[in-house]
Amino acid sequence: MKAVVKYAEGEGNIELREVPEPNEGDNEVKIKVEAAGICGSDLHIYKWDIGIPTRVPFIIGHEFSGIITAVGKNVRRFKGGERVTAENSRSVCGHCRYCMTGNYNLCKERKATGYAFDGAFTSYCVVPEERVHLLPGNVDFVTAALSDPSACAYHAVQELTGVDAGDIVLIAGPGAMGLFSLQYVRANGGVAIITGLGKDTKRLDLAKELGADVTVDISRENLSEIVHDMTKGGGVDIALECSGSEAAAKSCLELLRRQGKYTQIGIFGRPISFDLDRVLYGEIKLIGSFSQKYTAWSAAIKLFSQEKILAKPLVTDILPLEQWEEGFKRSFEGRAIKVVFRP
Ligand SMILES: [Zn+2]
Ligand SMILES: [Zn+2]
Repeated sequence: MKAVVKYAEGEGNIELREVPEPNEGDNEVKIKVEAAGICGSDLHIYKWDIGIPTRVPFIIGHEFSGIITAVGKNVRRFKGGERVTAENSRSVCGHCRYCMTGNYNLCKERKATGYAFDGAFTSYCVVPEERVHLLPGNVDFVTAALSDPSACAYHAVQELTGVDAGDIVLIAGPGAMGLFSLQYVRANGGVAIITGLGKDTKRLDLAKELGADVTVDISRENLSEIVHDMTKGGGVDIALECSGSEAAAKSCLELLRRQGKYTQIGIFGRPISFDLDRVLYGEIKLIGSFSQKYTAWSAAIKLFSQEKILAKPLVTDILPLEQWEEGFKRSFEGRAIKVVFRP
């Protein structure tokens, strides 16, 4: 089968290769990939500034959906033929405090599909049974392939931050994480201000369609003034940094009210300068959000089925695997919001 393989460490070093089909282990299922999306972290794999453990060579891709074609002999929940998606926590230790409390996304031994194990930018992928989620009949493969980013946003916004009705929330970055976070903020009755750059016009327009109260192009509009007017000088209640940009992190912190909540969702890929005195003087609650877990996945899939959270509008490009390079290029340039491969 053809696969997009990261064959060596360092920037780039990715190519479409012919690889053997994988075989499922006793506790695993084999999934025929129907749709697989490019994630922001795949771009970090390209640039090679990723902080998640990897093991080259590996097939990239962890946001996917498909049909089970074979099951291992210990698998109980599936027989084959089911439409599914799967979490990317491929192997965890199973006995640390995080695993024991269902927070296995934080297990120190966590190794992920599409990083340390072969991923989904190919025809077949194997994953452990316990990470597989059945798709409701009305959730299509393309939507389901975006369960991962939606679950990440659910984990960040619902499970870790908490938004109350009427909270004014600043979201920096109109990428997939920003656009899903925006939908969760709105689902809670929060007021959403989302920011982007000049190149993000298309993304900001989509944010508006998805319910953003205010969109701000910071290359030509004064964000501080807008926030000042909306909050009568008090600052926003919550800031969700989804861009991984140092300047955005700085303005999120500056525009947050005292005792406000700051949640880091974007990846910087390097240490940045961040004014922790401001956190201290303002009694800011600083929250980090990484990946997701079972609870967020089941909620994200249910919300897709209820059409409370939408994925399809984010999918701007559907490409065959052969055009993986074009897909990465469009993602890097911001021309695409979400690229989905149909292998
Ligand atoms: Zn992802
Ligand atoms: Zn563990």
